[in-house]
Amino acid sequence: MKAVAVYPARQAVGIADVAEPHIATPTEVKLRMLEVGVCGTDKDICAFAYGTPPPGQDRFVLGHESLGEVVEAGPGVADLRAGDLVVSTVRLPCPDANCAACRAGHYDFCMTGNYREHGIKGLDGFMTEFVVEDRHNLHPVARELREVAVLVEPLTIAEKALIEVREIQQRLHWDGGQQLAVVLGSGPVGLLGAMVLVNAGFETYVYSRSPKPNAKADVAEGVGARYISSEETSIDQMAEQVGNIDLIYEAAGAPQFAFEVLKHLGSNGIYVFTGVPRDQAPVEFDTERIMYNLVLKNQVVVGVVNAGRQAFDNAVRDIGVFAVRWPQALGAIITGRYPMEAFHDPVMGKAGGIKNVIEIGVRGRAQRAPRDEAAAVAGRP
Ligand SMILES: [Zn+2]
Ligand SMILES: [Zn+2]
Repeated sequence: MKAVAVYPARQAVGIADVAEPHIATPTEVKLRMLEVGVCGTDKDICAFAYGTPPPGQDRFVLGHESLGEVVEAGPGVADLRAGDLVVSTVRLPCPDANCAACRAGHYDFCMTGNYREHGIKGLDGFMTEFVVEDRHNLHPVARELREVAVLVEPLTIAEKALIEVREIQQRLHWDGGQQLAVVLGSGPVGLLGAMVLVNAGFETYVYSRSPKPNAKADVAEGVGARYISSEETSIDQMAEQVGNIDLIYEAAGAPQFAFEVLKHLGSNGIYVFTGVPRDQAPVEFDTERIMYNLVLKNQVVVGVVNAGRQAFDNAVRDIGVFAVRWPQALGAIITGRYPMEAFHDPVMGKAGGIKNVIEIGVRGRAQRAPRDEAAAVAGRP
């Protein structure tokens, strides 16, 4: 079967022939992959900034944002049947008996760093025709969500962030009324973050580079967030306009910009970092102001990486909520669908748009051609 394979030692990426996997234990499930989303992590892997093959191999299959269809379930799997849709967990726990986080099932908080991640670190990914995965690592998704379920995995980032925010906010023993959130960046992580925050009751602003009108601003405003361009409105002006910022959800990956905005976090505010910066030069920074605010305003700064079971459960639930509440805006996040052979432009970040998706197999493509065209037009900058 075909797969998009990365060869780190040779610094090569290409279509490879790999062996079709088969069910080997009773709790395994064989999946036909339908769609695999592409993100900045894939781009960094294909620039060979990171990415590790399974032990003893010189290559690994790319792709971690998956949507698959059950082909066959092992005899120990009672609740999945052929045709069911599932999204796979990306990270699997480390083997260390002393890693309390992994042993408790919270592998997204792994303390040894020896976790494995599909399509990223030590495990093959999902940009291939068939995958075998243990039932434990699969999250069933309703059939009606076929068009958007590939967004479940990127949505888990915001879901994990919201879980963390709610836990931190246990310290607020009063009703403060509607809270105010600013999302930095309007890529898929930022826009899905805006949806989660609006849905959770936050008055939400998306602060991102491009002036309106643009497709990302349309999605943000389509879900009831307000869009502010950083090219037109300075950080000071934005902060003035918004008021006491209770939550900043960073999804831009630009450290200088991110820390400039941190200066404007409000009283009792929480700042969530989700971006992973690369190759940024050191910058001068007003540490006094930040430290002063952190203490005198009871602020919390927290980073979140991928996601555990609860965040996946919440993402599966909320993608269904968003599909009913904002069908157009949710669908408009997916701006391009490419066959596996055309992986190059989306994976290398040359395809533009918001979220690009690799479609695996011809059957799926034929069903969805009209929607693809509409989405492509909407995403044209
Ligand atoms: Zn991703
Ligand atoms: Zn661990």
